[in-house]
Amino acid sequence: MGEGKKDFRVVSGAWELSGFNFRVEGRGMRLMMRGMKEGKFTGIRCGSCNMVYLPGPFYCRKCLVEIDEPVDVSDHGTIRSFTATMSDIRGNPLAEPQIALMVQLDGCDSWIMGVLRDVDWREVRIGQRVKVRWKPPEERTGSLQDMDCFEYE
Ligand SMILES: [Zn+2]
Repeated sequence: MGEGKKDFRVVSGAWELSGFNFRVEGRGMRLMMRGMKEGKFTGIRCGSCNMVYLPGPFYCRKCLVEIDEPVDVSDHGTIRSFTATMSDIRGNPLAEPQIALMVQLDGCDSWIMGVLRDVDWREVRIGQRVKVRWKPPEERTGSLQDMDCFEYE
C-alpha cells in the first residue's frame, strides 16, 4: 500500500449469484411493501433491545426472541457502504457507472440496499446523507420498485 489513507479501493472480480439461496421473511416484507405504496417505510422493533429492522424479521437477531411491533422508519439515511459498477454481467462497459449503496435509514438499525443516481461515483463517500426518491404515487404498486433510487439530501 502507498502512503496515507485511501478513501476507497478498486476491486475487480465476479460473483456467481445463482448458487445463493435467498430466504424472504414474508410478514416483514409485506409490511414494508404496503408502506412503500404510501411512500414510507415500516420496520419491526424488538421490544426487548429496541433494535429496529427493515424489512422486519420474525425474531430479533440479537435477542433471539419473536418480535412483532411495527414502527415507522425515515426515508432519509446515511451511506454505510457502496460499490460502483463499471461493466455489465458480461464485462461490457456501462454507459454510466452504476452506484449501489447500503444505507442505514434514520430510526433503523439494519441497512437497506439501493441505487444512487445523478452523482459522480468518485464523489460518493461513506457517511454521506441521502434520501429516497419515490416513484410518483400513481405509479406505486406496493413493491420494491416503488422506491426509484437514492439521491443526496
Ligand atoms: Zn432484541
